[in-house]
Amino acid sequence: MARRPEPGEDLSRRTPLQPVDGLFVVDLRRCIGCHACSVACKVEHAVPLGEFRMRVRWMEDPSDGRMAFLPVFAAATCDYGRARRSFGMPPACVSACPTSALQLTAAADMPAEARPLGQPGSTKPGVRYIGHRPWQEAKLNAGAALHPDDEDILYEQGHSR
Ligand code: SF4
Repeated sequence: MARRPEPGEDLSRRTPLQPVDGLFVVDLRRCIGCHACSVACKVEHAVPLGEFRMRVRWMEDPSDGRMAFLPVFAAATCDYGRARRSFGMPPACVSACPTSALQLTAAADMPAEARPLGQPGSTKPGVRYIGHRPWQEAKLNAGAALHPDDEDILYEQGHSR
């Protein structure tokens, strides 16, 4: 863990942090749909309203109506937080997650049950998921319509192009 510089410390003498490497793994059993990850991503990359590098889908379980959450990542724009990782820091979305649902994991440490989710284009192919249910993948592949209770997304919708 990096320590804070002391006042007056000569930063040129500090040992550079090693780049952080790995793949995103999302444990859907831990995701509470808080949007901390998507907000952190937007702030880090100055993503305009109505656009996303990653976002959190809210989905209703068709069997009991309970809500479940599914973070998805844009294949074209999400770069796994490359700039922060080059300075030895995890991506902003990973740092912001309060439940450790979203993590950066070395390929060798990837849990065996983690696997890609959805058809090409539904989320970034390199991301691995744990704990998804079949209906979630079906909804994701069908476009995962925005849920009307998702206030954060509704706010964004008003600014969509
Ligand atoms: S910050 Fe973590 S818990 Fe919150 S929506 Fe993102 S992945 Fe889920």
